[in-house]
Amino acid sequence: MTAASMQHSWSLVGNTKRLAELEHDLTEAKLTHAYLLAGPAEVGKFTAAREFASLILCENHSVCGECSACRQIRSNVYSGLTVVDQLWIDGISEDWAEIGRSSNFPQLHRSKTPKAKTDTLSIDDVRAVTTRLHSVQSDSQVVLIRGIERLNREAANSLLKILEEPPPQTIFILTTDNLPLLPATLVSRCRLVQFANVGDQIITDYLAVKFPDLSDIERSRIVNFSLGKPGRAIRLAGDPEILAEYAEYFRRFKELFGKPDLDSRFQLAEQVSASSAELAKFLETLTYFLRSFLLTRARQSVPDSRYTTAKLIALLRATDRARDLIDRNVNARLVTENLLLTV
Ligand SMILES: [Zn+2]
Repeated sequence: MTAASMQHSWSLVGNTKRLAELEHDLTEAKLTHAYLLAGPAEVGKFTAAREFASLILCENHSVCGECSACRQIRSNVYSGLTVVDQLWIDGISEDWAEIGRSSNFPQLHRSKTPKAKTDTLSIDDVRAVTTRLHSVQSDSQVVLIRGIERLNREAANSLLKILEEPPPQTIFILTTDNLPLLPATLVSRCRLVQFANVGDQIITDYLAVKFPDLSDIERSRIVNFSLGKPGRAIRLAGDPEILAEYAEYFRRFKELFGKPDLDSRFQLAEQVSASSAELAKFLETLTYFLRSFLLTRARQSVPDSRYTTAKLIALLRATDRARDLIDRNVNARLVTENLLLTV
């Protein structure tokens, strides 16, 4: 099936070939028992997973919005769909009520001692999923798990066992931002569908339709900051405060690249390593900053600058490496300090 022959109008921006593949499996009755949607963050993997699940479970296979499955899926109460998304821990997570609403499997075990970290999926979580699968009556079941790189080793082994002998009429749809971290045995049990970043033009066109009030300058700024990630573009377009925060980072980089001052580098490293949300903003804005710096240098040669083309390329690589190390749980403060000292 080509993108043009798709029946379902997906709500995603870009990655149409991947969506067509998923739809093809359904229309040709070739569904497999486990899908792994992998690729960069904020390109719509979990949105695709949810929508694919709805397509499979909808009584009309169309996300009609009218059938009882569609209506129950919308309120996250459909017994045939198990969603392991963000997780709550009573007493730890700040907004567990809201976080908890995004998942619909029992999570009381997470508040036991020792409390599971919100960013870890333990064997107790996998057990809660299987208990739910066995307890509900439904012709077909779909299990969605976001971010399976969060599975600890024990949990990954337990999920692997389930995938080796999958329960009948059950489809797992898993997502990950970090394919290299997953055990190869687990990946080999799934049909791997690789999502990619989306082209600037596709995001620009989407924003023009969905956010018609944005000025041309705002729109192009959002596209630049989102680096091919429609999820981020939508977030930035809907929240001027976050957009202003990105712009502020950009301004600070300009300042930083202008003067060799160590103190401000250490301060910035401390600030950005405070949370994973700040880190993401910092690394993405730095990447965009370096890319645009590189383009400017390519257009106007400034022979006496400290920042040669080679230096800027090296910094872009160092930024990618830093992101990789942070994904692998290396101390974020040290990584960002090291990165900023090479600037
Ligand atoms: Zn329906």
